[in-house]
Formats: sequence, C-alpha cells, structure tokens
Amino acid sequence: MAIKFKGVDFIEFDTLLTDDERLVRDTARKFIEDNLIPIIEECNRAGRFPRELVKPMGDLGFFGASLKGYGCAGMSNVEYGLVTQELERGDSGVRSFVSVQSALVMYPIYAFGSDEQKQTWLPALQKGEKLGCFGLTEPDFGSNPGGMRTRARKVGNEYVLNGEKMWITSGTIADVAIIWAKVENEDNKIRGFLVETNRPGFKAEDIHGKWSLRASVTSGLSLQDVRVPESNLLPGSGGLKSPLMCLNQARYGIAWGAIGAAMACYDCALQYSLLRKQFRDQPIASHQLVQEKLSWMITEITKAQLLVLQVGRLKDQGKAEHYHISMAKRNNVWMALECARLSRDILGANGVADDYPIMRHMMNLESVKTYEGTQDIHTLIIGARVTGIDAF
Ligand SMILES: Cc1cc2nc3c(=O)[nH]c(=O)nc-3n(C[C@H](O)[C@H](O)[C@H](O)COP(=O)(O)OP(=O)(O)OC[C@H]3O[C@@H](n4cnc5c(N)ncnc54)[C@H](O)[C@@H]3O)c2cc1C
Repeated sequence: MAIKFKGVDFIEFDTLLTDDERLVRDTARKFIEDNLIPIIEECNRAGRFPRELVKPMGDLGFFGASLKGYGCAGMSNVEYGLVTQELERGDSGVRSFVSVQSALVMYPIYAFGSDEQKQTWLPALQKGEKLGCFGLTEPDFGSNPGGMRTRARKVGNEYVLNGEKMWITSGTIADVAIIWAKVENEDNKIRGFLVETNRPGFKAEDIHGKWSLRASVTSGLSLQDVRVPESNLLPGSGGLKSPLMCLNQARYGIAWGAIGAAMACYDCALQYSLLRKQFRDQPIASHQLVQEKLSWMITEITKAQLLVLQVGRLKDQGKAEHYHISMAKRNNVWMALECARLSRDILGANGVADDYPIMRHMMNLESVKTYEGTQDIHTLIIGARVTGIDAF
C-alpha cells in the first residue's frame, strides 16, 4: 500500500523558513516524490544505485549546492540542508551520494584546489557529468584516520601513491577520487590528491553483502604505485584538519538528512496506525501505547528541526563550530534511528516488509550512525568542548 507524504510540521516550523527556503525544499520534495519514491524499493532490493537520477539532480543544482560560482546553485546552508532532508526522506543512500559528490569531493576542490583544478572539475561535477569519491577510511583506520598508512612520495614532478582505502562511497562509479595520504618527503603531513580513477595502479571493487545503504555504491580502493602529476596535489590541503573540514560539511547535511528519514518513518506509522484496526474494531492509533510512540516521535523530530535550523543559521553567518555540527549529527541520527524502530514496531509484521519504507530506513540509518564520525566520536567531541578534556 503506497502512503503519500504530506510533510511533518507540528509547531509551524515552516514560518521560520524564508520563501526561498520553502521553495527549494518543495522542489526537492517533488523531485523525490516523482522520481525516487517510485523506484527506491526495487533499487534497494537489487542493490542498485539509481544512476539515472544523477543528471536530473545536477540540473536541479543539488551537487555543490552551497558553493558559489562554477555553475553551482549558491544556496544558503539552510537551503542545502532542506535539500538533503528531502533526499533522505527518499533514501539515505541517494543522500549519501549527493553528500559525497558535494561535501567530500566538490568542497575540497573548492576549498583547497588550484584555479586550474577548480575550472577542470567543479563545473563537470556540478552537472553530474563527472562523479567523485572521497578516500579517507582505511581497513585499519576508521574513527582514527590520522593513523592512515596510505603514502605519497614526490619523485621528480610527480607523486607516487600507495595504499588501501575501505568503505568508500561511489568508489567504482567515480571518475576522480580525493585520496588522503601522508607525504613521505614532507614529514608525513596528510595532504589531499586528485586521482583520476583510470590511472594505472588504481583499482576499485565494490563491497557486496551490505544490509544497509543498498542503493548506494560502497567500495574498496587500492593504489599501487599510482603516479599523478604534482598539479594533482590539492595545494591548500595540509594536515588532518583538511579532511576533517570536509567531514564537517558532510555531517551538517547528514544532520538535516536524518530528519527526512525520521519523517518518512513517522508519517508512514501515523497513517498506518489510523487505518489498522485491532481490538473492538478500533484503530491502533486509539491505543495509548501507540500514541505514546507517535508523541515521542513528533516531539523528537520537532526538536531536531529546531537544532539543525539554528546550526544552519549559524553556518550561514560563518559561526557554526565543529562541535555544533557534532551535536546536530549525533542527536538527529540517533533520533531518526529511534523513530525507525518505533515506527517498525507500530507496523507490526508489515513493518519488516519492503511494501513500506521503514525497515530500509532503519537499516540505512545504522550506517549513517557509523559514518562521518560515529555516535561515540561525536559524544567525545561534545564532551571535549564542555570539559576542555580530550577523551578519545
Ligand atoms: C556505508 C558506508 C559508507 C562509507 N563511506 C565512506 C566514504 O565515502 N569515505 C570514507 O573515507 N569513509 C567512508 N565510510 C567509513 C566510515 O567513515 C567509518 O566506518 C567510520 O569512520 C567508523 O570507522 P570504523 O568503521 O573503522 O569503526 P571503528 O573506528 O573501528 O569503530 C568501531 C567502534 O569503536 C568505537 N570507538 C572507536 N574509537 C573510540 C573511542 N576513542 N572511544 C569510544 N569509542 C570508540 C566506535 O564509536 C565504534 O562504535 C563509510 C562507511 C559506511 C558504513
């Protein structure tokens, strides 16, 4: 049974948005409703990334949406956040693709790249003509990327890269990989490199058997003596701070995106509870324990909206700190996962079937909780901010 989405707004949240923000949100919502919702369960079952949506998403300005110039939409951070919310209302995997293309590929080129790199890559990435991936995580280094083993060595006017990256979104469909490596002749300083994926020695293989983000491509990368010209070094990158700046951009989008997933689950559970009858021919929505779950969800969704809107407003004023973004990512993903679990419960047995979107969202959110800084890591970031003590 297809249940149409009507939006979730308990406290006239929409009145806190500008006309432009609502327009961007509604445009993204319609796109997702018309193009992703009808195919997502098939994609999820088949483990297929809906690549046919890349060009239309580029046309709508979803890639690098908050960057200025190079054909980018120049959206505010709040507008960009509302887009990711709507994308993830459709599917976390598709939102992940957009986050990677925007925050983890276009942003580092924009922030650390040379003029030539920006001219070469940003317009093509914005249109979706070229796709990118971001290689930071390694088989032995996830939460602690500073331990990475991937190395770059300067030889003449080239760099030679060696190493392995793991759990890389869009790895096998990317034309270019942003690879983070320690540069041996520069005191092992971490720097970013643009590595075209057709260079000899570069290999990407998909990770199979995922029960989460099945509509998103996740890959392992191997670099064996991959040579790139020195002009492929991102000249402004330097130190772990550079990839962390990229992650901050992506985490911000995730904090909004998680609300979309929560809304999808809540809305589905609410409508189901009004139709489903148990005991005395009464809808299950009339039972107090079901109402308690719905009340919890709408309250937490509303709090999450306010939290991320304030962080977005701070970001638009250049005042969002990484710990603000950590709080929003940590809270909103946790909230969304709890909403998915409660919604699944309200649907009873139907909750485990893909006639409904809930179990897919729940499984997706398990990855969203882990990537871009796990729940624990964000807890420690907030803890470090309030106590002044690093507990990593
Ligand atoms: C579907 C998917 C897509 C991804 N896409 C990308 C991508 O595009 N690019 C990329 O670079 N990476 C990507 N990742 C990797 C992701 O960022 C890492 O999985 C994440 O950083 C966690 O690392 P880990 O999986 O190695 O877990 P670990 O770091 O091994 O952590 C395991 C557990 O230990 C806990 N832990 C670790 N250290 C501490 C500590 N100091 N205190 C308390 N608890 C701790 C963690 O919170 C976690 O619960 C992706 C992951 C997934 C699942």
